[in-house]
Amino acid sequence: MGRDVSPKIDPSRVREHETFELDGVDISGHWNRMFEQRVIFDYDVAQLDRVTDLDGGESMGWCYQCSQCIGVCPVDHVGDYGPRKIFRKLQVGMDFFTSDDLWLCTTCANCLRVCPKEVDMLQIMPAARKEAVLEGAVPAELQDVFEKTARYGNPLGKNPKRRIAWTKGLEVDVPLVSELGRKVDVLWWVSDYPSYHPRGMEASRSLARVLTKLGIDFAILGAEERHDGDSMLRAGEQGLFEMLADQNIEALNSYEFDVLLTTDPHAYNAFVHEYPERGGNYNVEHYARFLADRIGDLNLSEDVLSTVTFHDPCYLGRHNGEYDAPRDLIEALPGANFVEMWRNKQNGYCCGGGGGGMWLDGLAAEHQSMRLSEKRVLEAVETGADTLCVVCPYEVSRFEDAVKSTNNDGALVVRDISELLAEAMGLSTA
Ligand code: SF4
Ligand code: SF4
Repeated sequence: MGRDVSPKIDPSRVREHETFELDGVDISGHWNRMFEQRVIFDYDVAQLDRVTDLDGGESMGWCYQCSQCIGVCPVDHVGDYGPRKIFRKLQVGMDFFTSDDLWLCTTCANCLRVCPKEVDMLQIMPAARKEAVLEGAVPAELQDVFEKTARYGNPLGKNPKRRIAWTKGLEVDVPLVSELGRKVDVLWWVSDYPSYHPRGMEASRSLARVLTKLGIDFAILGAEERHDGDSMLRAGEQGLFEMLADQNIEALNSYEFDVLLTTDPHAYNAFVHEYPERGGNYNVEHYARFLADRIGDLNLSEDVLSTVTFHDPCYLGRHNGEYDAPRDLIEALPGANFVEMWRNKQNGYCCGGGGGGMWLDGLAAEHQSMRLSEKRVLEAVETGADTLCVVCPYEVSRFEDAVKSTNNDGALVVRDISELLAEAMGLSTA
């Protein structure tokens, strides 16, 4: 049966027959609706068209409302969200570009994993947010971070000269590549939170001790390092991303190194997927993989008497396929017991920090029953674990706040894998 399903159909032509026979089969009553498309074309598709017309927004129009995405969207688990719901709201006239829905997606990629139509929020969200950025319609808390990052090169608004503060007083040497004046095996891209946030700084000190004990020839950039820009790009600030990427590439390309070692999965993602087309081509490794490949040399001899669970960062796991390295490291910890949360690996739950969510907690709170990080902490506690292991610098601060706000202080501690490894190696973790 040939039928016109284009939006140009005249709704007045469409009617439901009381009885209808098709090829000898009685398809009376509501079954007719499968063959005579009715109400849906009454809707004005202008708002949907505004999204699908964007470069990167096309796939929003491919949704056929199957709802697979809703079951896995972390935001829907604490609120009312997901691609299917956004599509439906666009059908009935939502202006996406001024809606809070534009900012709630964390670009976690779980919907894309299950969507049979490949509706791609990782393309749609940056494309639509870019329009809002150009119009100046950005939530104030995020705009503040954009401005700090543009001015200081980091979203915390810290003095670039303080990037190396965490190395002061450390018993191991953390050289600046500019002062070494030679090629190094490993250039460590420390990132912002590991340089400035108190708990991130502790994790950085542990990783410096571990690298030193391994005998790795490494150095850092110090004040020459700027925010990698990945989260700014997902949040729609393409111009800021491009400025940061070009500055970082200029700094990196002035030194010789074999491996660019990243602490932050978002930086890893940018270096692997975004920097090459701007002239930044590096042999990039995330520190979990780098250390997992050297497990035999770590000399893990001290018991870590903890029950440990692990949170997969979206930008290491789903975005870049690395699930094994952190687990291999945890399972190698002497005395530790590893337990999985029920949502793990490909279906891992998002901490809420991706896609600009790191700086949108205020807006999210208006639409969610709890923060995603709080939901995740409750899932970690459910496993009976006393330690939540992380390998992303966004997460230590997010989860530590969530441990407090869910009254789990004393029941669960959040520790970077480098801290757990340092303890197992008999090194200081202070
Ligand atoms: S899974 Fe894809 S096609 Fe199905 S409702 Fe969600 S966005 Fe639409
Ligand atoms: S990318 Fe993640 S947060 Fe965004 S809509 Fe999809 S599942 Fe939800």
